[in-house]
Amino acid sequence: MIEIDGSEGEGGGQMLRTSLALSMCTGKPFRLYNIRAKRSKPGLMRQHLACVHAARDVCHASVSGDALGATELCFEPGTVNGGMFEFAIAGAGSTMLVLQTVLPALLGANTHSTLRLSGGTHNPMAPSFHFIERAFVPWVERVGGRLQLELRRCGFYPAGGGEVQALIAPFNTGATRKPICALDRGTFVEARAEALVAGISTRVAERELRVLARELDWTDDQCTSLPLRQNEGPGNALLATLEYERAVEVFCELGERNVSSEIVAGRLAAQVRAYQEGSAPIGAHLADQLMLLLAVSVGGQYAVTEVTEHTRTNARVIERFLPDAVAIAEYPNGTGMVTVANA
Ligand code: ATP
Repeated sequence: MIEIDGSEGEGGGQMLRTSLALSMCTGKPFRLYNIRAKRSKPGLMRQHLACVHAARDVCHASVSGDALGATELCFEPGTVNGGMFEFAIAGAGSTMLVLQTVLPALLGANTHSTLRLSGGTHNPMAPSFHFIERAFVPWVERVGGRLQLELRRCGFYPAGGGEVQALIAPFNTGATRKPICALDRGTFVEARAEALVAGISTRVAERELRVLARELDWTDDQCTSLPLRQNEGPGNALLATLEYERAVEVFCELGERNVSSEIVAGRLAAQVRAYQEGSAPIGAHLADQLMLLLAVSVGGQYAVTEVTEHTRTNARVIERFLPDAVAIAEYPNGTGMVTVANA
């Protein structure tokens, strides 16, 4: 049984999701203790329990400690079977984090899978639906799998109520797969902004886009307000997508009560500028997510805009299941190079 101290490094929820994903892929059981010890409310919250139960269902695991607030969990995986799954995450828990947990195992399964996920699609501290669709999915295809996503209903934090369908085709084992090499972005292709507004005034979207365009010197043509269905929301997300020849990055800021459109747009502009100032293709969040995907597939090497404690911690958890799988070189300017061994 692999023993993992959840208070190490970042000490957050990612340690749980990476452990679940790799336990399913490797067949190795684990015990995670001091779960989310570095968060203000430690232990398993609803969204984490949803990940545990989704993982259990996908591989018929035996689980103990899966209770709200629990700080210790034991997970013994069984056989992974693809198929049809429905995962409802209470409240606005992130559908994308549940997907992140079960995707590696289902990419290695013997058959296709269909996932119906309900909960949040645009959450703070989690990848947005659009981030996964535009920035992450292309990498799944590059490593020989397929992930087709459909956003059926937006679910904004804190209201939730979103619906996503994910079709997963396992790795094509017959094809020869080369390790990934992502060292630069290539030439710039386009940048665009989208405002999603549901159940609140559309003036919010107009103001956000106006401020963002001014801050980044983008034209009106680059900024659109996406129409949503009447029964969605309430909620608001402002997205910026930067597309390069060999990289796509998506940034998302959520509108909040008592936070002005100007502040939301200003925060998003700051994220965009920070990425534009660098030259590495992979941003801090994608760095974590790509590491896990490469560790269970073809391996490879990629340059990152920033090496965060989150990334280092994720690497340490991966190492517990796949020794010597990840090496991170950190450079004095804060950027880095991640090398992942072939699975
Ligand atoms: P907690 O630490 O409170 O348990 P958590 O369960 O959300 O929170 P984290 O450890 O913070 O766990 O991990 C959040 C995950 O969401 C990570 O995979 C991170 O890369 C991803 N993520 C966070 N913010 C973004 C963002 N803006 N865009 C894309 N991905 C994001």
